Amino acid sequence: MRTNGIASASTAGIAARLNRWLDDVIGTADADAHLAARIRAQQLRSVLRFAPLTLTANLFNALLIVFVFWDSEPPWVLLLWLAALTVAMRSTLRAWRRDQASPPARASERAIRRAVLHAGVLALLWSVPSLLFFTRAEADSALLVTLISGGMMCAGSFVLANIPRAAVLYVLLLCASSSLAFVVDHPVRNLDLVVLMNFYAALALACAIASARTFGARLLAEAEAERQKQLVGLLLHDFEAHSSDWLWDTDRNGFLQHVSARLAETFGRSLDELRAQPFIELFAQGGRDMNEAERDALSALAAHLMQPVPFRDVQVALVVEGEQRWWALTAKPLFDEGGLHAGWRGVCSDITDSRRAALEMSTLANFDSLTGLANRHHFRNQLAAIRPPGSEEARPCALYFFDLDDFKNVNDSLGHAAGDRVLQLVSQRLQERIRAGDVLSRLGGDEFALICWGCRTPECAAELAQRLLDSFTSPVVIDGVSVQIGSSIGIALAPQHGGDPDALLKNADMALYAAKAAGRNTWRFFEQDMDERARRRLSMHSDLLGALERDEFELHYQPQIHMRRGRVAGFEALIRWRHPQRGLVSPGEFIPLAEETGLIVPIGRWALEQACRAAVRWPDDMHVAVNVSAVQFARGAVVEVVRDALAQSGLAPDRLEIEVTESLLIHDSAAARDTLSALRALGIGIALDDFGTGYSSLAYLRSFPMTKLKIDRSFVTSLNSEEGGGAIVRAIINLAEALRLDTTAEGVETAAEWAALAGKDCTYAQGYLMSRPLPEPQIAVFIDGWRGLDAVQAEDSRPLRAVG
Ligand code: C2E
Ligand code: CA
Ligand code: CA
Repeated sequence: MRTNGIASASTAGIAARLNRWLDDVIGTADADAHLAARIRAQQLRSVLRFAPLTLTANLFNALLIVFVFWDSEPPWVLLLWLAALTVAMRSTLRAWRRDQASPPARASERAIRRAVLHAGVLALLWSVPSLLFFTRAEADSALLVTLISGGMMCAGSFVLANIPRAAVLYVLLLCASSSLAFVVDHPVRNLDLVVLMNFYAALALACAIASARTFGARLLAEAEAERQKQLVGLLLHDFEAHSSDWLWDTDRNGFLQHVSARLAETFGRSLDELRAQPFIELFAQGGRDMNEAERDALSALAAHLMQPVPFRDVQVALVVEGEQRWWALTAKPLFDEGGLHAGWRGVCSDITDSRRAALEMSTLANFDSLTGLANRHHFRNQLAAIRPPGSEEARPCALYFFDLDDFKNVNDSLGHAAGDRVLQLVSQRLQERIRAGDVLSRLGGDEFALICWGCRTPECAAELAQRLLDSFTSPVVIDGVSVQIGSSIGIALAPQHGGDPDALLKNADMALYAAKAAGRNTWRFFEQDMDERARRRLSMHSDLLGALERDEFELHYQPQIHMRRGRVAGFEALIRWRHPQRGLVSPGEFIPLAEETGLIVPIGRWALEQACRAAVRWPDDMHVAVNVSAVQFARGAVVEVVRDALAQSGLAPDRLEIEVTESLLIHDSAAARDTLSALRALGIGIALDDFGTGYSSLAYLRSFPMTKLKIDRSFVTSLNSEEGGGAIVRAIINLAEALRLDTTAEGVETAAEWAALAGKDCTYAQGYLMSRPLPEPQIAVFIDGWRGLDAVQAEDSRPLRAVG
């Protein structure tokens, strides 16, 4: 019993192992349930496919057996066997019909087991002729049975091959029953038959297993391919539906193949229309004019498409629904089996937004938002092209520096919005006068610069400079107010004035400085001695720093004569710098520098104190006029300084006069008005210097507490000329009278000027005709010697009398 149990257990174990191994032959052992079910269906179908053939063969063989053994075997046995076979075949037929009507996509494990069982039953039924009839049969009938069994075994193994378990069961049962029959019949005589039968069985099984293995591998490969196809399809679908990118592929002629609906929608064209034109023509902008960047991008794409090498992120412009877009294309070339280039496959993404953002960033970084011109940073980068990398030679060009004349006045009097508008209009005008390729830039404030490439001669540069200046001829109109704008221009040429950006910038700046010094609306080329002058300026600055301590300043005094009474009314204090090396330096040279550096504050205080101390020694009815710069008003406590100077010297306040320029009234006018009012309150006189050269309006004159207008020398000089200076002087004097102000004519050099001024009721006169500015010790001499203008002229018949 026990041995029996162990034996059956090990048989079951072997059977189970065999089963597993046979499942592995097909490959369903490791497949997932879904795939295994599909494979099982395929296995069953591949077997059922042969049903018409197998049914016919079975029926034919069965009828042959019945016919041959009808006389030797009991008919009921034969009929019973035939009936059993018919039943088995009927179930095969039914299964075949079902399969034909609707082929199942899946089959269960049970269906396979049923098929195996069915094969077993058939094998058992076909064992009957061997087991029952063979041993009793005549030699020729026995041969028939042997043949039929062998044939059925081989054919069955072939038909059932794709269900290896069924094939094995079928072949083993048939082989075993035949072998048994041969042995029972006559073991020795039939030995060759037994061996042959078993050999065929083994051969048939080996073939069946091999065929099953191929079948299984094919099914698995198909399933895997199908799975991948589905996966790729799914991914592509998802990609096309959700991403902002498109897939594209072309044939070898460059025509689009696969066009997604979304791509067609994007273009607003039908799929067929898109397929009918070469891919690259989509970017040809429909014949529209392309700019340089667009043209370059298109040629870059065309170049890539010419050679079958993968490319990445090639940017190209196109028009979609009338709007300009930018795409980035990435693609790989496709090759046919012969290795020939067969087209392209790739993706394109719309990068318009990121490109726009990048463009905006670069615009912000490189361009001035007010005028749209290049900013300083971009300008510097452009100027760097003057010396291309690796080149010894500088590219010829002209560099222009512009500075608008008196722009600050516009800003101060009309407001910043108007100032901005002026800058915009000016930049527009300049832009209209330059060539494409020239770089115009706003460096900041009212400073502009221009690089004019290829302009190598001074004639060429001067011609352009004049053209640029001409753009300032007509006034700009801001909110109905017409504003006359001028500009000073400094020019440096490459390579003669410098071969690198820094040198050229420095020299153009120096030329600009010279242009400004030369007056309004003019241009100057850089000259080598400007460099020298700039150096002088620099060394003058360091000298100026210690000049006050070293007591190098002195005041000269120029008399102011009361015209009607003919007597000395007072003196204007004019500063001089006695430089140890350079001698007497005029204020025109160092006052602007002192103003720039703020040194004017201590220097101005010294001048005030010095002048007051000098004036105390003069007759009581004579005043002293002191020039006070606008910078002193802005940075120095002018009222306190004046009060101290008066207190220290003991000079009566009404003998002091302050000379201010119009720029003071315009800049920071509220604070200036307060300071001037405080000075007036002390009893100090206030004269408006250089009147008529600035921008001051009547409103300023009325609201500021003035006592005197000083008529600028330029009007006095043109008094007797044809330029109509007389009319201006007349108008100024009338204006002063209306405002109850005195007038002083500056720079009176001739008796004719004196006479003309006297005729126009000018209050005071000052000029070389009466005296040059005098050093302090000569004042007493001058006062003593002053006998009126006639005496001066009688004493010296020359028109000018120079003293000091
Ligand atoms: P300003 O206040 O207009 O002074 C008059 C200038 O005209 C003086 O030049 C004077 O020498 C000159 N001048 C006088 N009569 C004649 C004439 O008949 N013909 C000609 N061609 N010129 C004449 P200066 O002394 O060189 O002073 C130049 C400027 O420097 C002054 O112009 C004034 O703006 C400034 N300045 C002088 N001293 C001081 C000072 O102490 N403080 C400040 N802040 N500025 C000063
Ligand atoms: Ca003055
Ligand atoms: Ca003056």
